[in-house]
Parts: sequence; C-alpha cells; structure tokens
Amino acid sequence: MVVKMENLEKERTFLMMKPDGVVRGLTGEVIKRVERCGLKLVALKMFQATRDQIDEHYPKDEGWMKRIGEKTKVNYEKYGLDVATLGTTDNLKIGQMVRGWLLDYLTSAPMIKMVIEGPHAVDLVRKMAGNTIPAQAEMGTIRGDFSVDSAAFANRDKRAIFNVVHASETPEEAEHEIDFWFGIDEINEYERVEESTYKIKR
Ligand code: GDP
Ligand code: MG
Repeated sequence: MVVKMENLEKERTFLMMKPDGVVRGLTGEVIKRVERCGLKLVALKMFQATRDQIDEHYPKDEGWMKRIGEKTKVNYEKYGLDVATLGTTDNLKIGQMVRGWLLDYLTSAPMIKMVIEGPHAVDLVRKMAGNTIPAQAEMGTIRGDFSVDSAAFANRDKRAIFNVVHASETPEEAEHEIDFWFGIDEINEYERVEESTYKIKR
C-alpha cells in the first residue's frame, strides 16, 4: 500500500476522556500533553453517551471480541483468578461480557471526545495513552501516570479496567470513530504556528 505524504501529515485520531478521567479532573492534563507534543486539537466536546452509542463505538466483529476475551482470560490466570467464575471459558462469550462492562463504564458519567491531527497522530496518541493495563503502562504515559486500576480487581468486580482515556489503535479504527462521533462540519482547520515558522530554507 502506498501512503500519501499529505495524508500522513494530516493523519487524524480519536481520543476520548473516559468517565473516570472526567470525574477526577484530568481533562486539562490530557489536553496539555496532546498540545505540548505538537499535535493539533481539531474537535472537542463534552457529552453524556448512551448505551447504543457505545455499542456502535466499539467493534462488533467476532475477532475483536475474541481478542478481548482472550486478553481477559490471560489476566484472570496471571492474577490467580478462576476464569470459570465468569460462567464461561469461551473467548467470544467473555469478550461479549467485557463489551457489556464497557457499556456500563462509558455511560457512568460524561466523557470528552476529541479529534487530534498531525503526523503519525494515531501512533503518537496511543503511545501517550500507554498500555491498556495501568501496571504495564510506562510512567510518563497517561495511564501509567494517572491510574493504578488493576485487571485483577476489574475482572473480580465484573467491570472494565478504569484507564482514563480511549485512543484509536489504527487509522481504520480512527476513521470509524471520528465518522461516528463527529459531523464533518464539527472538525476545524487551522495552522499551528510551528507549521508556518519552522521551515528550512533551501
Ligand atoms: P485499549 O485500546 O487500550 O483501550 O484496549 P482494548 O481495545 O483491548 O480494550 C478496550 C477496553 O476494555 C480497555 O480500555 C479496558 O477498559 C477494557 N478491558 C480490556 N481488557 C480488559 C480485561 O482484561 N479485563 C477487564 N475487566 N477490562 C478490560
Ligand atoms: Mg482498543
């Protein structure tokens, strides 16, 4: 696949403050990190999501649900919990269950949705967010710095891991999420100063 340079320069990703991030007052902290690294905030809104919306936000394909189910099972075993207490050991069924926990979590308080633009925006924002599991997220990342939630406790309590933000994993995921959460007229265009001032003349 040939990637066009101008597309890469204006790559867009979707970043969302999850309810735990909002109620802990971490919104400014997260936006500061995005802006500080040079990425451009092009859309932003606080809103209360419905269960139907979250259902559309997360992929519905079996592959995605099996992957989440498998990850959850691995975490159960890693922390000495018996996965059978979930009532099933089937990856797809566990994935569907975690998906249900995500609907509870992401509708529990308002969230803030954002579109971020810039070169490698998807990878950079993902790197900034850090690993899904806070204990495995590097210090310096949002999840590493601001969450101590544990997959073990989350699984025991039958809820999703509280990890402050959602960030698209791939450009395809970003496209789906941006299209779903924003109208085309809600995404803004402007130049950050460094785009026009920092140029090497030849
Ligand atoms: P992300 O892209 O890093 O957010 O991670 P995923 O797409 O794999 O999972 C989506 C969300 O589901 C995560 O951010 C967590 O809130 C939750 N989640 C993922 N894996 C697990 C798990 O093993 N157990 C529990 N309880 N929740 C999980
Ligand atoms: Mg994900």
